[in-house]
Amino acid sequence: MTILSFLTEDEIKFQQKVRDFVQRNLVPVAEDIEQGKLEAWDVIRKFGKAGYLGSRYPSEYGGIGKGLMYEVLVTEEICAVHAGFDMARVASCILFAHPVFEFGTVAQKKKYLKPVAKGERIGALGITEPNVGSDVAGTETRAEKQDDSYIINGEKRFITNGPIADYLLCYTVTDPKVKAKQGMTAFIVETKSKGFEVVEEYDLLGMHGAHVGRLALNDVEVPEENILGEHNGGFRVVMAGLDAERTILAAEMNGVARAAMEEAIHYSNFRVQFRRKIREFEGISFKIADMAMKLEAARLLTFKAARMIDAGQRATKDAAIAKLYACEKAIESATEALQVLGGIGYTKQKPVERFLRDARLMTIGGGTAEILRYLIQREVFKEYDL
Ligand SMILES: Cc1cc2nc3c(=O)[nH]c(=O)nc-3n(C[C@H](O)[C@H](O)[C@H](O)COP(=O)(O)OP(=O)(O)OC[C@H]3O[C@@H](n4cnc5c(N)ncnc54)[C@H](O)[C@@H]3O)c2cc1C
Repeated sequence: MTILSFLTEDEIKFQQKVRDFVQRNLVPVAEDIEQGKLEAWDVIRKFGKAGYLGSRYPSEYGGIGKGLMYEVLVTEEICAVHAGFDMARVASCILFAHPVFEFGTVAQKKKYLKPVAKGERIGALGITEPNVGSDVAGTETRAEKQDDSYIINGEKRFITNGPIADYLLCYTVTDPKVKAKQGMTAFIVETKSKGFEVVEEYDLLGMHGAHVGRLALNDVEVPEENILGEHNGGFRVVMAGLDAERTILAAEMNGVARAAMEEAIHYSNFRVQFRRKIREFEGISFKIADMAMKLEAARLLTFKAARMIDAGQRATKDAAIAKLYACEKAIESATEALQVLGGIGYTKQKPVERFLRDARLMTIGGGTAEILRYLIQREVFKEYDL
């Protein structure tokens, strides 16, 4: 373990390997993905073949059996180049796959986790609905038992990969008579099923390359064996999944914050005004200091949450802190980096405007800033028995 970076020798080697892979396979095509000239999934599949969609999952399920900490390293490297690309990747290999890994039967993992971890199939997570955002317990999508199957009816919106996914992890109400927390069930739905419909695809401010859509499920029949976790145990599945998701979203934003800082460093070392490099003005160089400080802190929080999850510890507070801190700091750093670049930063000739657009999502998706603050204070009061 090196004290300086809090990474083991193996993690440092792995990080370098990923960085080289990203340089070779993503950097040359990132702008094409941004502009919609190239499908992100044409490139994500290569990442799957190389094992970069399954850092945490064992080899029998298509992964490399390393741990969530390694997924954090992969995520930061990719997001330092293109966050929209990574949002599509993560929606499949974490948002969909991680709950399948944690709660799936051996048969479910072989059938659904393995092809997703290898990049051969695309997964999506379906929690959000037209009337259900932050209040997950208000889920309205219904699943009713019929012989050995369930019939699902409802709508899901803002679903990343939804328009192109093979599998949807779909949260439903199976017992409307009890509180949602006791009456929700998670299903793995194959999107080729009759009655599954892509209603629309959203035009987003940022995160280009990811397809985010609204879906309808009209009498979609799903076999009982596709229940993930226990019948009426869906709320536990959704909550456990969110801890891993939030840790990875934090890592995504560390990548964006790093890229923004690096742009600001290089530009301020090159741009001359008043016959001096602008980095010589404290007004500029102190912004770099703040960016570096925020990134370092966000990274350590992210590493901590990932290590807790790898150790099998409950990381609800820690993952929420990491996600909220990293996301807010990434927005601040992207904003300040744009300021360092001045006018050119506001144009599409430089990627900083993209960093800002991409980062802006992250106090909304995966739990809004307000909900995360609520969750963190709740956990803190619990620690004091209050
Ligand atoms: C690009 C994108 C991709 C997404 N991908 C997915 C996906 O793959 N799968 C998925 O299931 N969902 C996805 N989402 C949905 C995302 O998780 C939700 O947008 C988010 O949870 C917030 O829900 P909402 O948009 O309905 O906002 P609402 O819950 O309606 O909230 C609106 C505002 O009210 C605030 N608010 C709500 N309740 C409270 C409260 N109790 N206290 C204080 N403030 C409150 C919120 O913080 C927010 O500011 C995605 C969203 C986007 C934009």
